[in-house]
Amino acid sequence: MRLNRLSEFYATYKAGGVVGFGPGADALTATFDAIKETAQEMKANGLARQGDARVEYDLLRKAKISLRFGTFNHCMFGEHNLAGAKCMENTIVPPGHRGPLIDRCLPGRGANSIIGVEHVKFYRSEKGSLERQLETKKTAPCRRAPCSNRCWGSRT
Ligand code: SF4
Repeated sequence: MRLNRLSEFYATYKAGGVVGFGPGADALTATFDAIKETAQEMKANGLARQGDARVEYDLLRKAKISLRFGTFNHCMFGEHNLAGAKCMENTIVPPGHRGPLIDRCLPGRGANSIIGVEHVKFYRSEKGSLERQLETKKTAPCRRAPCSNRCWGSRT
């Protein structure tokens, strides 16, 4: 299932589409670049046939890309890319816990975050809802002020 979705991302990438936005998307694109390059080298050396999608699929599988699919973003947090994990900052990780603290995710700020094309509708909807609140006279001034933490997108 996970590999199938990853393959769909790769197909989008190969078709020249956008895999997502944010630092995590840049990292994923760089990995896809490396896979495509390796597949081309294998083809040039006669180790893969032209258009042999199976080779790229195997390379994708072997790349062991850490990717968690989420409703508001995807997370590339993995053992080798802990840096910039906003969810891990200023908190105590429960003993025995592995992986990101999803409930503390900041999709708009995390270095491992990918906001995919499929997530954009949620953010548009949220933006529309906030704009409607601003237009309502009953909205208290404290709720109109920008958040000093600049933590838009927080799930907490
Ligand atoms: S902040 Fe979100 S995207 Fe970043 S590592 Fe944590 S869960 Fe993943």
